[in-house]
Amino acid sequence: MHSHSIKVLLDLPELNVCAIQKEKDQVLIEVTPIDSIQPCPVCASAQTIRRGTAYQRKVRHLAAFGKRVYLLLPAIRLTCKDCHAHFVWHYDCVAPKKRYTKAFEATLPKQAIGATIAHAARLSETPPTTVHRVVRQWMAVESARVQRRCAQQAKVSTGLVLGIDDFAIRKGHRYNTGLHDLRGGTFLDVIPGRTIAELQDYYQAQPIWQTLNPVAVVMDLAQGYHTFVKEMDPNAIRIADRFHVNRYVTDTLQTMRKQVQKSLSPCAKADLKQHFRILGKRHDQLTRDEMVSLKRLLGYAKLLRQVYEWKEAFIAWYDCSPSYSLAKKGYERWLAQGKAIDHPIVEICLKTMHNWQEEICNYHQLRFTNASVEGKNNKIKALQRRHYFTRNPECYKQHILLECNEEWIQYGYGS
Ligand SMILES: [Zn+2]
Repeated sequence: MHSHSIKVLLDLPELNVCAIQKEKDQVLIEVTPIDSIQPCPVCASAQTIRRGTAYQRKVRHLAAFGKRVYLLLPAIRLTCKDCHAHFVWHYDCVAPKKRYTKAFEATLPKQAIGATIAHAARLSETPPTTVHRVVRQWMAVESARVQRRCAQQAKVSTGLVLGIDDFAIRKGHRYNTGLHDLRGGTFLDVIPGRTIAELQDYYQAQPIWQTLNPVAVVMDLAQGYHTFVKEMDPNAIRIADRFHVNRYVTDTLQTMRKQVQKSLSPCAKADLKQHFRILGKRHDQLTRDEMVSLKRLLGYAKLLRQVYEWKEAFIAWYDCSPSYSLAKKGYERWLAQGKAIDHPIVEICLKTMHNWQEEICNYHQLRFTNASVEGKNNKIKALQRRHYFTRNPECYKQHILLECNEEWIQYGYGS
């Protein structure tokens, strides 16, 4: 192949290809700068003279045809006639003293995101320290850019719906709160902690939320979240997250099952215990076999059947209420159905359901849930398992922002 064709493929306009050597698993491309002279970096004078080549720089470039590719760049010495400064030729494709071209470094983050530094290092046959340095720098710039873009989208969005939900840093030890744009499908920010005081600190310190004007906010039944949102965005509709609410009712059913089990024969008790998951599943998602088992399980106690039907009625209420006003009436009926069961275990749940009536019914004003948030929380969980400790909080936040807005990332270099 002519060296001109290689030059075209190489796509580095500042360089001319002189020669190509092929070794076992690598290709060495000898190049020279196209320009014959470079202006002085100190005084910008064009009156400089070349004083020969000190040595050859071997710089790693993008792989080709399954081989590692290196550029052999002459380190040309120059002297300025005006200010007498001595300097070495500067190449645009590689930073001074670096052994990797900028184009090569730009490919490293793609291999590290969603994986680990060690993995990217193996894949690219590059030292982990190099990958680490490159990825760190890239993450700081790229996460800020992604966050800016996502915040901008949320800011100009008409009918913005926010989602807030906590996620564990170490389960049971510390929690953070994620701020999500549910309509735009983005992760906006990590809020340290989840108490009302922590949320207020964040709101004062970080301008992101202050610029947003949400029509609705979806969250679980944590009082702190609701009080905070009521204060900050009094006009926003507060929606209790469907899946969190539904879990309360399903948990009540299981508590009832445990209660009922106590008074049953050992055989029936074992049967219930073994198949408890069938009770929790949506009725319309049961297999034929599970349907048979369910019939048997519900036959053990009238109380269990009543609570099961009440749980299913709740799912139907969520799925099938045709309007907000009808949903409110339907909710009253559902509460009454629970009351008629007349059992303290159901009473406890009903109390919560009664207190949050407004927020739960608000789902039928705007049918948004934090389901996508759960997916992002799982990503964070996986991220934390991979990087089992995160000493640097800035880095931790950058990582989450990138991992949860993956489709917003641009990998190209210079972006
Ligand atoms: Zn000069």
